[in-house]
Amino acid sequence: MSLKIKVVGGGPAGLFFCYLMKKSFPNYQVEIVEQNPADATYGFGVVFSGRALSFLKQGDASVVERLKSNMQSWSDQHIVHKGQKVIIDGNSFSAIARITLLKELQALCRDIGVEMTFGKRIESEYPEDDCDILVAADGANSVTRDRYATEFQTQVQELENYFSWYGVETPYDAHTLTFIQQDDGVYCGHHYRYTPAMSTMVAEVDEQTWVSSGMQGMSNDERQIHFQNVFKETLDGKPLVSNRSTWQRWRLVKNGKWHHKNIVLIGDAQRSAHPSIGSGTRLAMEDAIDLWRALQTAGTDIQTAFEQYEKHRRPIREKLNSAAEKSIAWYEDIAKKMSLSPEELALDYMLRTGLMTPQRLAQDSPTFVARLAELGVPLAS
Ligand SMILES: Cc1cc2nc3c(=O)[nH]c(=O)nc-3n(C[C@H](O)[C@H](O)[C@H](O)COP(=O)(O)OP(=O)(O)OC[C@H]3O[C@@H](n4cnc5c(N)ncnc54)[C@H](O)[C@@H]3O)c2cc1C
Repeated sequence: MSLKIKVVGGGPAGLFFCYLMKKSFPNYQVEIVEQNPADATYGFGVVFSGRALSFLKQGDASVVERLKSNMQSWSDQHIVHKGQKVIIDGNSFSAIARITLLKELQALCRDIGVEMTFGKRIESEYPEDDCDILVAADGANSVTRDRYATEFQTQVQELENYFSWYGVETPYDAHTLTFIQQDDGVYCGHHYRYTPAMSTMVAEVDEQTWVSSGMQGMSNDERQIHFQNVFKETLDGKPLVSNRSTWQRWRLVKNGKWHHKNIVLIGDAQRSAHPSIGSGTRLAMEDAIDLWRALQTAGTDIQTAFEQYEKHRRPIREKLNSAAEKSIAWYEDIAKKMSLSPEELALDYMLRTGLMTPQRLAQDSPTFVARLAELGVPLAS
């Protein structure tokens, strides 16, 4: 028996799911609808930890190898505080331009016979009436999900800090977090190279800084210039590049149920991941892997497949979500941490989610831990 599968949203989750399904079930009709043109993307580069890439390999190792040839990789993490750089060894990361990731996934889908429609926004129609499975992969502001917000038990929480996603033509050596404290507040930049020439700069401030610096009353262009001036040295004098870069608060979306009728949620539509644990794209693609696996096992018994997907995936997602919540709290509390020394701040950052233990840190980052010992900074409080 053949199934007709429709996917709303051609981001990493939707495209990867279509590819995996069509590869396993060539007789299924697999369609994807994306509101943007095929070559449009907002944002710059996305980062994957080494661990995240090994998870994705479980879905399709050849896809990860193909993506790797377009990635920038490094093994250290840098924390810059009080103008001093702390190097944390043993932190493998890779980054790729979001547009390259999407183009690679689009090419894989095209080659395998996924029907792709670009430049079409699903708004008021009910696409679930016209297919066996409707996959909502339309991101954090999913209209497919919001139409059934009561059934999905959707909850939205607006976080305190403000952020914006920029690019800069400065290729940083490593995944870096730079903290700058001034009289008007505390500023944080997460920056990493994603092509040999370009880096992403995620700019973030806490609520106090948003008000005291006057950013609250500025236009987006003025905020960009303000952040650029604060980070002049870090940016090596280069301007920040905007790509619809607007300052906003993060909307954390959760769902009590992941499926309703023949509709199932994956990626940010299911749970918006926070960038401070750098895993949104990886989590979205892993959701795609889990839903594909459940459909492989349950065949055309769609409700069983949805239940298996949620049963297997929910505990994994919740573990990472609880880590993300601790990370969010850490950034919201950043002003209190500015009195720490650079090494103390780096250690506090590394242990903030509880996923990294002092024991694991000692194993993974021996040079950093030896430096802490030299300075008399205790590994565990
Ligand atoms: C500032 C910032 C920094 C980030 N940094 C990282 C990072 O470093 N690493 C990382 O892994 N992730 C990062 N993320 C998160 C990452 O972007 C998302 O978690 C990831 O893209 C989720 O994938 P997705 O496919 O679920 O959703 P999306 O990537 O949001 O894709 C959804 C797609 O659906 C389309 N769509 C939406 N509505 C409709 C509709 N009605 N009809 C048709 N199409 C529709 C959209 O155009 C979009 O293409 C960051 C996000 C932000 C905002």
